[in-house]
Amino acid sequence: MIISLKVDADVERVIRELTAKGLWIASVSRAAGQDGAARGGIAQLTVAEHSAHVVPSELDAIPGVASVALPDSLHPRVDAHPPTVTVGDVVIGAGVAPVIVAGPCSVEGEDQILEVARRLHGAGVKLLRGGAFKPRSSPYAFQGHGEPALKWLRRAADRYGMRVVTEPVGEAEVELVAEYADLVQIGSRNMQCFSLLKAVGKTKRPVMLKRSMSATIEEWLLAGEYLLSHGAAGVVFCERGVRGFDPKTRNLLDLGAVAMLAHVHRVPVLVDPSHGVGRRDLVLPLARAAIAAGASGVMVEAHHEPGAALSDGAQALAPEAVGDLARALLAMAGGA
Ligand code: PEP
Ligand code: MN
Repeated sequence: MIISLKVDADVERVIRELTAKGLWIASVSRAAGQDGAARGGIAQLTVAEHSAHVVPSELDAIPGVASVALPDSLHPRVDAHPPTVTVGDVVIGAGVAPVIVAGPCSVEGEDQILEVARRLHGAGVKLLRGGAFKPRSSPYAFQGHGEPALKWLRRAADRYGMRVVTEPVGEAEVELVAEYADLVQIGSRNMQCFSLLKAVGKTKRPVMLKRSMSATIEEWLLAGEYLLSHGAAGVVFCERGVRGFDPKTRNLLDLGAVAMLAHVHRVPVLVDPSHGVGRRDLVLPLARAAIAAGASGVMVEAHHEPGAALSDGAQALAPEAVGDLARALLAMAGGA
């Protein structure tokens, strides 16, 4: 942001006012006059990118400020994104109760997903998530049951009045997945698969966009811009941990990024503590931290028999534990 001052502005005073608003001044250039006033020329202040969120009109009102110029954003649609996204009867975003997206890492069979859905519904969950096409690091790991799993997932969700969240792993299955999903997931490894983002955008569905384990916040926002510029009905960002240096936790959950999206960019953001930490006993404390940082809800993995899960069992909660988690998060949001 560049702030140009009037010729008679008291530069030091303007800087003090800006600093009091939480802005960090990266550089000051004065065309002439070095004695504290911009006399004889116009001073320009460059505000560093990591400053506080401010409304430009408030800056215009500071005595001595002539104009405020914002750099062109590379993601105008994300910048203009509303604070909420609606998925059927569920609203995700600022100002509403935290949402819980839950379900098994993989849809393993019709009976399995019916059982998990029944118990999650009992726990108050409205968004049922399950993998039909699984992005696995190894080609020898279980890849998901594909189209039959989409049918089982849809049937289970419909039986309990829930909404479906699931992901395509390649362009080839985008149309198919969009037929079954109310909220289309983009997995971490696909966050920068631009042809997939374009194809998913064209389905005009709302999208849950997981952050790549090595993406900067700007790259994540730009991936959201791909989706919106190709027609997505809305984007819910989902932080799932970036790659850290310590294998004790599966990933490094970046709650700073969550606060940035929630409070500075003001877009809906969820947190996936299951993949973030990789072990079920730490999912609840991290979910609480996520809400405190500004997340609008969480995505957690749940299984009717976590010990027997075909993928990610170590981080899966029993459905009843998801109920405990939901109560804890609702209590936080209610100020209890
Ligand atoms: C998942 O959500 O099941 C998954 C594979 O997560 P991620 O894409 O974040 O690794
Ligand atoms: Mn998983």
